[in-house]
Amino acid sequence: MAGEDYSFFENVTKSFDKAAKFTKWEDGLLEQIKACNAVYQMRFPIKRDDGSIEVIEAYRVQHSQHKTPCKGGIRFSEAVNQDEVMALASLMTYKCAIVNVPFGGAKGGIKINPKKYSEFELQKITRRYTAELVKKNFIGPGTDVPAPDYGTGEKEMAWILDTYATMRPGEVDAMGCVTGKPVTQGGVRGRKEATGLGVFFGVREVCLMTDVMERLGLTPGVENKRVVVQGLGNVGYHSAKFFREHGAKVVGIAEYEGSIYDANGLNEEEVFQHRRKTGSILNFPGAENLASSLDALELDCDILIPAALENVINKDNAERVKAKIIGEAANGPLTPDADEILAKKGTLIIPDMYLNAGGVTVSYFEWLKNLSHVRYGRMEKRFTENMNKHILGQIEELTGKAVNDTEKKFIEHGASEADLVHSGLEETMIEATHEIMNTWKANPEIPDMRTAAYVVAINKVGTSYGELGIFP
Ligand code: NAD
Repeated sequence: MAGEDYSFFENVTKSFDKAAKFTKWEDGLLEQIKACNAVYQMRFPIKRDDGSIEVIEAYRVQHSQHKTPCKGGIRFSEAVNQDEVMALASLMTYKCAIVNVPFGGAKGGIKINPKKYSEFELQKITRRYTAELVKKNFIGPGTDVPAPDYGTGEKEMAWILDTYATMRPGEVDAMGCVTGKPVTQGGVRGRKEATGLGVFFGVREVCLMTDVMERLGLTPGVENKRVVVQGLGNVGYHSAKFFREHGAKVVGIAEYEGSIYDANGLNEEEVFQHRRKTGSILNFPGAENLASSLDALELDCDILIPAALENVINKDNAERVKAKIIGEAANGPLTPDADEILAKKGTLIIPDMYLNAGGVTVSYFEWLKNLSHVRYGRMEKRFTENMNKHILGQIEELTGKAVNDTEKKFIEHGASEADLVHSGLEETMIEATHEIMNTWKANPEIPDMRTAAYVVAINKVGTSYGELGIFP
């Protein structure tokens, strides 16, 4: 997200200041909301497989404790630096506030390219990092709860949990010290598709707003909307899947190697399998090849979902982007320059800060599951099924008519863990979309939806700090 002239953290600060003008908080309080409360920079040694010693540079930043625990992923990347971790930690505070996840923001980073280390070395690095966090009280179900981010996944989260639980024997809620764990280690069902599903719920809600759609010259609803997705990874794949399943046409998909286009709509799973077999999305049967990955961003479509990298829409190509709606599934896919160019064109940009919050929302559900020590649905699933069967039986008996088998199965079934997680996510995204849109509508001087999202975030954090009068 960093522009050419500012650091990433300065860019976040700039967006914050732009939005702060539309809030009522005094300068001192705004300073406190913006500041990173604690920055832990560490160095520790590990012995490589070849016997040499390497000193690892790592960070954990807790941006805000207005709600605890703090929450945010851990990134393994050579590009990690303090400024980036601080920026990402701040964004987590605002993201959590918008989707009503009662956490402060945090972020962690280890400056390594994970591809250059063996699994054994990665395990040693992850465990030592966790031990350093434990020593300084920078991790725990009530203080700071990491999660996966760029370069990390379920495996690293399982190592973190094991290290934490070993160092804190007998801590009954230890499982809640980290989220994004494998389901067998206290993870929650529905996490994998959460971000893509959240993107779909958010965009669908905007598409249901008749006044907004009228302004964009589109009909309400996602049905038959032409969608282009950049990046067929976790978030892109699932976004494409949910749009297609709800009647939209995914007319374009972009990956590293190029893009494909089919006006009749593409099936993401078939494209995924084609890529697995041939090593490329190109030459997909019935689709047209486009020369580069960037070409897909300029396709004639209604909704564009950049779900790969940051800065892909910038001052060089923004003018040629034809989509009426851009749903920022990736973090920071638009540069500030692109934002301005597209705003002038009347394009609606649904901001990353809340649109890709599905992951952290479901992480919150995972943490709640860990603290309650019971799987979602365990207590009520069978009861609901038995009750639904009974009601349906009574209806059939009283009317003398039989309900068909498909409907019967649907009506009878009790909610599984994944059903409840999806439903909680749907509620979260709908509520957040309306809150941001209502804030925007209430003040015509707010220039765009991104600023409106910041206003919502600042007001919520400000309320939990300010109105309680908690400062000494
Ligand atoms: P991923 O690694 O699973 O997928 C990214 C995909 O983008 C890969 O398939 C990659 O090949 C493709 N890609 C890379 N460069 C490309 C290019 N130039 N053109 C087209 N495609 C390209 O990652 P992900 O988890 O899907 O994350 C995608 C984005 O969403 C990132 O910005 C991430 O920060 C953000 N995000 C992810 C989550 C989550 O829960 N996974 C949550 C919030 C935000």
